[in-house]
Formats: sequence, C-alpha cells, structure tokens
Amino acid sequence: MIDVIVVGAGPTGVMLAAELRLHGVGVVVLEAAAEPTRIAKALGLHVRSIEIMDQRGLLGGFLAEGRQHPLSSHFAGIIKPWPVTLDTAHPYILGIPQPTTERLLTEHAVGLGAEIRRGNAVVGLTQDDHAVTADLADGTRLTARYLVGCDGGRSLVRKLLGVGFPGEASRVDTLLGEMELTAPPETVAAVMAEVRKTELRFGAGPLGDGFYRVIVPAAGVADDRAVPPSIDDFRRQMVATAGTDFGAHSPRWLSRFGDATRQAERYRVGRVFLAGDAAHIHPPTGGQGLNLGIQDAFNLGWKLAAQVNGWAPDDLLDTYHAERHPVAADVLNNTAAQMLLLSTEPGPQAVRNLLSELMDFENVTRFLLEKITAISVRYDFGDDHDAVGRRMRAHGRLYELMRTGRGLLVDPTGRLSVEGWADRVDHVNEEVGVPAALLRPDGHVAWVGEDQDELVGRLTRWFGKPA
Ligand SMILES: Cc1cc2nc3c(=O)[nH]c(=O)nc-3n(C[C@H](O)[C@H](O)[C@H](O)COP(=O)(O)OP(=O)(O)OC[C@H]3O[C@@H](n4cnc5c(N)ncnc54)[C@H](O)[C@@H]3O)c2cc1C
Repeated sequence: MIDVIVVGAGPTGVMLAAELRLHGVGVVVLEAAAEPTRIAKALGLHVRSIEIMDQRGLLGGFLAEGRQHPLSSHFAGIIKPWPVTLDTAHPYILGIPQPTTERLLTEHAVGLGAEIRRGNAVVGLTQDDHAVTADLADGTRLTARYLVGCDGGRSLVRKLLGVGFPGEASRVDTLLGEMELTAPPETVAAVMAEVRKTELRFGAGPLGDGFYRVIVPAAGVADDRAVPPSIDDFRRQMVATAGTDFGAHSPRWLSRFGDATRQAERYRVGRVFLAGDAAHIHPPTGGQGLNLGIQDAFNLGWKLAAQVNGWAPDDLLDTYHAERHPVAADVLNNTAAQMLLLSTEPGPQAVRNLLSELMDFENVTRFLLEKITAISVRYDFGDDHDAVGRRMRAHGRLYELMRTGRGLLVDPTGRLSVEGWADRVDHVNEEVGVPAALLRPDGHVAWVGEDQDELVGRLTRWFGKPA
C-alpha cells in the first residue's frame, strides 16, 4: 500500500511530498492539471519561507532564479523603512514568480523520489480505520495509509470530508493578468502613480520581458466568476479606473480573484489532512498565501512521516491542527484588516492615516513585519522560555545541519546525550546563544536547558519512545 497520497501539486503539495520523502515515506501526488500552470499568482517568498529553503539546502537554486528586493515594510500599501533589528539572516523579500517556485519544489520532491501523476483528478474519497481510498476521474482507485488534500481553495477533499469552511464570501473582485502595453513606459508609470493616490487596487508593473502585470478592480465585470475575463474586460476596467487602456494587447494569461476569507474548521479527519489553500483562503494582500501553505507542509511533513515510520508519540498528528490553525487565523485577520484599510471610504482612510503615523515607530513596524514574514510565529508548547515554540534563526552552520530533516540537539557543552533517539535526532556542538536546545525537524525550539532528565522528557514528547 502507498504510504501517503497528496492531492494537488501546487506549492503546498510538492513541498509536503518532499518533506515526506526526506524520511523515506512512499508518496504519490495526484494532480488534476495535465501541465504546470503559467499563472504567476504569488510573486515572492517572505523571510520564513526563505529560511525554510535554506534549512533544506534549496536556497542557492531559489536565489539563482529570483531577485532579492531591498526591504521596506509594507502593510496595506503603507510603506516604511525596514526595521534594522529584524531577527533573521535573510533580511529581504525574494521576488520569484509562483510557477518558478513550483518548478523548483517539484524538482526537489521528484529528486527525492516523489511520484507526481499529472492529469489525475481525484473525484471521490472513502476511509476506514486502516486506509484511505481515492477515486480518480478515469474510474481507477488508489489506496494509501494517509491522504493530504493540498487541492486549493475550492478543495474537493475538504468538501468530501464535510469539513465546514466558515468565513466571509468575496465582496470585492479584482482582475489580474500579464499583457503587452503600447503606451511608453514613462506614461504608464506616471498614470499609475497618479491613480494609486486614491485607488491602491490598480497597478501596471513591467516584468522586464516586454510584458506588464496588470491589476485592476473588476467592479461591473460579469458576476459569474467562472467566466474567465477577456482582454476587452481589462481594457474597459483600465479606462474606467485610469482613463486609458494603455493600448493593452496580446495577453499571456488573464485571471480574476476575490477577497473571500474562510478557514477550515478542522485540519484533520481520521486519516485525511488539509493543508495550504484547501485549509484557508484570504485576499492576497501582503503576499502570504503561498508562504503559509509551504509552512503548513513543513509542519505536517515530519509528523506524518513519524507516524508512518512508527515512532510518532500518540498526539503528534493532532499538533498539526493545534499549531497551524491559529497561525492561519492570524493571517486571515491581518489580510481582512489590510483590505479594509485599502478602502477609499473616509472611516478606513482615517484609520489608515493613523496607522501610517504609528508605523513611524520602529516597534510597530517590526511587529507588523514579523507577522507578515511569519518569523514571529510561536507555537504553544506550554513552556515559559521565550525561545521555546519559536523557530531558531540561522547561527553559523545551523541551517546546514538541518538538511536531513531530523531533529537536532544543539549542545555547545557536549555534556548531554540523545542516546535512545540517535536514529531520529542528531547531536551537534554548535554555539547558538543558549545553553543547549532541542530543535524539531521544522526548526522550532522544543526545549532549552542544561538538564539531561528534562531533555529526555522533551525527546519523548516529540520523538517518541527511545529505541
Ligand atoms: C492574485 C493573487 C496573488 C497572490 N500573491 C501571493 C503572493 O505574492 N505571495 C503568496 O504567498 N501568496 C500569494 N497568493 C496566494 C497563492 O497563490 C496561494 O496561496 C497558493 O497557490 C496556494 O498553494 P496551494 O498549493 O495550497 O494551492 P494551489 O496553488 O491552488 O494548488 C492546488 C492544486 O491542486 C490541484 N487540484 C485541485 N483539485 C484537484 C483534484 N480534485 N484532484 C487533483 N488535483 C487537484 C490544482 O490543479 C492545483 O494544481 C496570491 C493569490 C492570488 C490569487
């Protein structure tokens, strides 16, 4: 029997497949689309995702294909200087289109032995105490011990599980596409600067290859979101918003998105899990969705692998929902706040002006930025030490030592021991600014201290019984 079926080869699905393969878990990824998408929804990676790429030895490939942008702090389009004290070795945004991120993660997963079957839509699902069976569109079936729905915001897996997806329906729709413009670049830039003084949901940015990424409000375009927008829709909306269509022509792709905000009530039902957009959707303000999905996968991967490999403590799989649900709820909250602040109504504008003044305080800006970049995420492990539950920033060779995806005891004293867990946890003498620390495979600190008995308690909690 297959160990794990992953439904969906988007960024969340392929990241998860790679994490499972690091631990030798058998993975089949079922993807409905015959070909990878060319649509560049997400344009970049934030600090925590960049750190994750570093922790898995993927950063070189990402840096080679992306562009490091000098940092400023963004919140609802309010731009302030980057706080100098941000706690990371990677203080930049990595500009990289979503199809490139997906390709790099897919290559990584396949390189580790994941099998990706394209043109294979899942249409049904059943599970019992021992296995999950997926029905495929071609009439065949596939059975595995576990299944993870990484099948996007309209997730069929979530619907088949009957998991509630409460929240707000979309109210504001936006058109997004890539096309050529005949107007000179200076004209486009000048008109855009003027229009954006009042309408922040308008933009026309050069992509460097003759094409522009155009974003424009969809108000007045066909109500039915299933109808794809046309270049004429874009031209009409550009005229309505900016007074000109810049001579738009030859679109590469055109799409439309809404601002629905919803979250799955449960991330797990029996042997089936939800991750990425299948578990949460929100407006793209702040560019967080893809990052959140990658981080879901990074949290779930080692836990599911531990279960398959037979050493997971009893409640380990349930910590996935417990840890990741609050993180996404917080992102839903900040994106909803940002959408409101983009409104041209006087009330939201007044709050926006006030927030802009507050963001002149470095502590305020840092707080918001640590949220958007996800480096302030702290899981509740019931421990008072400030480092416990947080991810550990890079120190020296630390991230290099995490590439195997195993646990790590960082012990500068050399006095502690992982005997009994040495098959799951590495023991290294690195200096990381604390006496000694136990790191989970996702880089979050499970324990800080000096006492061997205490350490044994935490090893048992996260890595199961000694061998
Ligand atoms: C305009 C826009 C801009 C954005 N910008 C950013 C940004 O800058 N930064 C950021 O972090 N995020 C951004 N996002 C969000 C980001 O694009 C998503 O969060 C991300 O794609 C989610 O990844 P996923 O793998 O969870 O889901 P998806 O990317 O939706 O992938 C799901 C996959 O599952 C497949 N699938 C669906 N149903 C089935 C089925 N039944 N059987 C088999 N396969 C199936 C689909 O074909 C698809 O390949 C943006 C989104 C939009 C709309």
